[in-house]
Amino acid sequence: MLVVSVQTLRMYERRGLIIAQKSAGNQRLYSQSDIERLKCIRTSISKHKISIEGIRRIQSMVPCWENVQCPMEQRVECPAFAASDAGCWTYKHKTNVCAGRDCLHCKVYLLAGDCEQIKSLVHHQTSRLSETTDDLQKGK
Ligand code: SF4
Repeated sequence: MLVVSVQTLRMYERRGLIIAQKSAGNQRLYSQSDIERLKCIRTSISKHKISIEGIRRIQSMVPCWENVQCPMEQRVECPAFAASDAGCWTYKHKTNVCAGRDCLHCKVYLLAGDCEQIKSLVHHQTSRLSETTDDLQKGK
């Protein structure tokens, strides 16, 4: 069973870890996928001792530009491409490929909330980074 206080849910929302869906009467609604995301967040904090900041950084590691096919000229202008401190959905996208997109149902947002997928993604990104560093050191 998952027990999360209302204050904690609001804090996760303010920090960009979750996006709350709201009813016509402005009540927050949580889907099964939100519950799985919350379980992932809770496990990261209680079992793996990852801070909120750490979770934000991990969520930012999903390469959104690959998933939404963002062209290079838009990437370089996008704050989410340059930054690594929060998921792309926490940034305002006024004119690029993500402007007006529904982040709540976006593959990138969903992927960042799936503990199993994010683990292999972080592993993949870390190996890629270390290979690049090795290549640079070898002068390749
Ligand atoms: S639609 Fe939202 S979640 Fe999806 S890539 Fe764009 S900013 Fe990120």
